Amino acid sequence: MNDRTSLTTALPGAACEPMPVGAFGRRRARAVTVRWADNEVIVGGHRPVVVQSMTNTDTADAIGTAIQVKELARAGSELVRVTVNTPAAAEAVAPLREQLDRMGVSVPLVGDFHYNGHKLLTQYPDCAQALSKYRINPGNVGSGARRDDNFAQMIEVACRYDKPVRIGVNWGSLDQSLLARLMDENSSRAQPWDAQAVMREALVTSAIESAQLAESVGLRGDAIVLSAKVSNVQDLIAVYRELGRRCDYPLHLGLTEAGMGSKGIVASTAAMAVLLQEGIGDTIRVSLTPEPNGDRSREVVVAQEILQTMGLRAFAPLVIACPGCGRTSSTFFQELAASIQTYLRDRMPVWRASYPGVEAMQVAVMGCVVNGPGESKHANIGISLPGADEAPVAPVFVDGRRTVTLKGDRIAEEFQAIVDDYVKRKYAVGTATAGEG
Ligand code: SF4
Repeated sequence: MNDRTSLTTALPGAACEPMPVGAFGRRRARAVTVRWADNEVIVGGHRPVVVQSMTNTDTADAIGTAIQVKELARAGSELVRVTVNTPAAAEAVAPLREQLDRMGVSVPLVGDFHYNGHKLLTQYPDCAQALSKYRINPGNVGSGARRDDNFAQMIEVACRYDKPVRIGVNWGSLDQSLLARLMDENSSRAQPWDAQAVMREALVTSAIESAQLAESVGLRGDAIVLSAKVSNVQDLIAVYRELGRRCDYPLHLGLTEAGMGSKGIVASTAAMAVLLQEGIGDTIRVSLTPEPNGDRSREVVVAQEILQTMGLRAFAPLVIACPGCGRTSSTFFQELAASIQTYLRDRMPVWRASYPGVEAMQVAVMGCVVNGPGESKHANIGISLPGADEAPVAPVFVDGRRTVTLKGDRIAEEFQAIVDDYVKRKYAVGTATAGEG
């Protein structure tokens, strides 16, 4: 028994059973296909964890939204979600899709519905058809009998157009009647759970009961993805462990309202890394709040870097750089590390097609002789820059061997040319060693 098989749920009342694990340590999950034209993205079924994102443009502005969708897709988002909140937004979805197709962007679009999704999906069939997946929040589709009717209407549209659905529960919009029911049940327990445990259970129950309802309406079980997002790291881990234990629907991971800057990145990474390490999670979204006019694509890069640094997927060559210290006498080393990382990322849309395997390449940029040569030898290509009081030369290492020593004012340009040449030699299709590294 490995460590993963001994993991147990954190929720009270749950049996201490081993986590179900599948091939490669992943939780077993059905495979859900999200498609647009020839582009099929499979979520679950032991496929690589899918990266997705969401626009923050007004969807009614089809051109502006198309531009942002293109940017997100270019950054590597494999699914892109758009808000569909008004008749104008619903009306704009089909033109948005057409605009993307004209731009050669085949990323599947996911429509995010709240409150009025049953009306928009039934009144705007072009919208229902142009979307590749619907996100339904069972906590805000209505109340009482109307809740089930509205929910069923959306599921019927999904069945009619053969679209998968994410049932996305969120603790900020949790089904209050369900929560009240579980509170009542809890109060009759000999040893009642605390309120936080009941809230967690309500999230899990809401997701699973809604999925069962969707199946009873006619949606295939392999057309359902579940999520249950909260904004607290420990709650998220506990909820997803339980969700993973109680169903085999693929799971969409994400910490909701993660926040801005480093806080958002750290909180999302802390929560998702624990779950991914346990084999839980089939698609992820990092919900970062961008700076005003900031780059929305950052959430895609962060999601990719979580998966790549964990060794789960490779998206773009990584730059290994030391943090610098009193031995680095200028900012040149930081500038070179930043510029080469940007360069590698910018080249990826072209390299991805021509140089398979290049995404796993590692480039080391080190600040001085202490760890520079050693770390550089472990990367595909490394450069050890001169620290304070060292001779102003920069030895370059390729596949562990010292090759040239750069000096003068053009070290950055010459190093970039060495990287370019290495990629062409090492990863060109038909090259015997392509894909190594
Ligand atoms: S490699 Fe050199 S410059 Fe970089 S942190 Fe270590 S000692 Fe400092």
